[in-house]
Amino acid sequence: MRRHFIAGIVDYGYNCLQMGKEEQSMGIVIKNVVVDEEGSVKSVNLRIEDGVISAVTEEAIQELPGDTVIDGKGKFALPGFVNAHTHIPMSLFRGLADDISLDTWLHDHIWPAEKRLTDDDVYWGSLLSLAEMLRSGTTQIADMYFHTDSIARAVSEAGMRGTLSYGIVAHRLDQHGKDEISKAREVVKDYHGSSHGRIRTAISPHAIYTCGRDVWRAATALAREEHVPLHIHLCETRAEVEWSMKNWGHSPVTALDDLGVFSVPTIAAHCVHVNEEEIRLLAQRSVTAVHCPKSNAKLGNGHAPVVSLLSAGVNVALGTDGAASNNSQDMLEEMRMASLLQKAALEDPTALPARQVARMATENGADALGMGARRIAVGEDADIVLVRLDGVDTVPAYEPFSALVYAAHARNVTDVLVAGEFLLRDGELLTIDEERVKYEVVNRFGSIAPN
Ligand SMILES: [Zn+2]
Repeated sequence: MRRHFIAGIVDYGYNCLQMGKEEQSMGIVIKNVVVDEEGSVKSVNLRIEDGVISAVTEEAIQELPGDTVIDGKGKFALPGFVNAHTHIPMSLFRGLADDISLDTWLHDHIWPAEKRLTDDDVYWGSLLSLAEMLRSGTTQIADMYFHTDSIARAVSEAGMRGTLSYGIVAHRLDQHGKDEISKAREVVKDYHGSSHGRIRTAISPHAIYTCGRDVWRAATALAREEHVPLHIHLCETRAEVEWSMKNWGHSPVTALDDLGVFSVPTIAAHCVHVNEEEIRLLAQRSVTAVHCPKSNAKLGNGHAPVVSLLSAGVNVALGTDGAASNNSQDMLEEMRMASLLQKAALEDPTALPARQVARMATENGADALGMGARRIAVGEDADIVLVRLDGVDTVPAYEPFSALVYAAHARNVTDVLVAGEFLLRDGELLTIDEERVKYEVVNRFGSIAPN
C-alpha cells in the first residue's frame, strides 16, 4: 500500500470511510479470533461494516469482493483500551525528574518546564504519546492539559477517540479565573463532536488545591450548561486531604460534594485517599474513579482502595496519568500494575482478577466517557485491538485474560481499529509517522529541559 505523508502524518484513514459504497464492500473480516462473549472465551469470525461490528459468529463468514480479510489465529480480540486519565503532551517530560517528592517534582521541574512549551512542542509530544498508546492497544483517551488546539489536532490526525479538556488553575474568580473558565468553554465550543464525532470534551478544574470555591462553582455550572462531564484530580495524596481539611474544613470529597460538583457526571482521577463513607458517596453520585496505579506508586502516593470502590458500586476505570509520572502510556502495563498492587496491598491473590481489571480498562472507561466500544458484540463500534497470544511471552495462554494482563507486552499488539479504520495494521502505524515524531521530540528537547 502506498502512503502519502502530510506534515508528518500519513494520509490514510478517512478516505476509507468515503470510498466505496457504490463500488464494492469495504468490510473487514477477522477470522478465527479469540473473543470473550459474556464470560465465555471462544474462537469466532468477525465482520465489520461502516465502522460497526455487524457479525460475531462461530459460523463461516462469506467474504465479499473488496473485503479486507485478516487471519486472527492465535490472537485475542478486545474492545480498544480506554486510557481514562492522561496528559498526553507530558511524554516530553518522560524521565525529566524521577525519584523525588511530588511537591519538588511539580514546583521545581514540571511547572517551570511547562511554562516554556510552545504549541508545536505540545503537538509533537501529543503524537509521541498517541503513537505509544496505539502500539499498546489504546483507542480512546481522556486528556486534561493546555495548548488544547495542538492536542485536538494530534488526536484528530491519529484517528483516535478523545475526551479533551483545558486544565483550569485559578484560586479566585477574578479576571484570571474568568479567563481560565473562558478557555475551558472555548475547547467545548471548538471541538465537541469534531473529528467525525471521535472528539468530545469535558470541563477540568484541576484539583481542590489549585482552584478556589467560586472557580469550582463556575466550572460545574459550565459543565452542566454544556452537557459535558467534569474531569478532575481527586484525593491523589495524603497532603491534599490534609490541605483540604485545613483550608476548606472538610475532606476533598465532602467539600466538593457540598459545592454540588458531583451533581454533574464526574471523572475523578486517583481517589487514593478516600474512606468508606466517601466511597459510598462517590457511588451514590455516579462519580467514575480513574485508578492510576503506576503514577500513584511511582510518586509514593499509595494505592487506591479499588476493591472497596468496585464492591461499593463505583465505576472504576483505568488511566496512566501523564508520562512524566508513569513513565509510559501503556495500558497493558497499567492493568498489570493495578492487579498486582491490589493483591500485594491486601495480601490476597484473589483481589482484582485479570478479567475484572481488563473490564476496567475497556467497558468501564467507555461507560465513563460515553463513546466507543464496550465489548466485542454486534452493533458495537469497531474499536478493536488484536493481541497475539502465540508469542514466547504468552504461550501456552491457557486463559486469555491471564495471558493479557500478567504476561503480554505492547509488542504483542498487532492491530488497532477505531470505528472500523485501521490505525495500526500488522505492527505498522498508519496515521502517525513515528520516525518524524521521534526526530521532532528529540530535536526540541533541549529547549524544554531546564539546564
Ligand atoms: Zn493527572
